[in-house]
Amino acid sequence: MKTKKRQARIGGKRYISSSPEETRKIGVEVAQSLFIPAVVLLYGDLGSGKTTLTRGIAEGLGLEDLSLVSSPSYTLVNVYQARCPIYHVDLYRLEGERDLYSTGIDDFVGREGVTVIEWSERLAGGFAGATVIRIVDAGGDRRELNIIPPGETR
Ligand code: ADP
Ligand code: MG
Repeated sequence: MKTKKRQARIGGKRYISSSPEETRKIGVEVAQSLFIPAVVLLYGDLGSGKTTLTRGIAEGLGLEDLSLVSSPSYTLVNVYQARCPIYHVDLYRLEGERDLYSTGIDDFVGREGVTVIEWSERLAGGFAGATVIRIVDAGGDRRELNIIPPGETR
């Protein structure tokens, strides 16, 4: 059986975060591991920390004003200009395929900058070459993150 010790290395598989701050720092490390253009698919319930993690990814990509990073629930996509454009997509309110295409996703996903997608559960499929991150609320302020780099078996 695999050790339950928290592996602190990105490229490993499982991380435990004990605070929003820690989740943000994990996001910074995720950003540093990306090869741009990159796609990050986030899975996890409401309040699991997807937006918090995205804030860390944006920080790692050099965004200075992190208060810009909030769930684009109504617009479906926010764009932040960091060292590269960051497309922050939230599919919580996605009604169908047409909605998805109306975001212009085909023009940027995997083509330009970094695309981070919250509620990837709503996608019919994934995107080739994406980093997949699943977040589970482990009680209190604990969150378990499972990070699968591109190319590894899901
Ligand atoms: P989501 O985008 O998945 O709905 P948010 O990042 O918007 O989640 O919110 C996560 C909430 O959980 C915030 O209120 C945050 O303060 C709280 N929280 C508590 N512990 C953690 C943690 N370890 N990591 C991330 N968020 C946490
Ligand atoms: Mg969110």
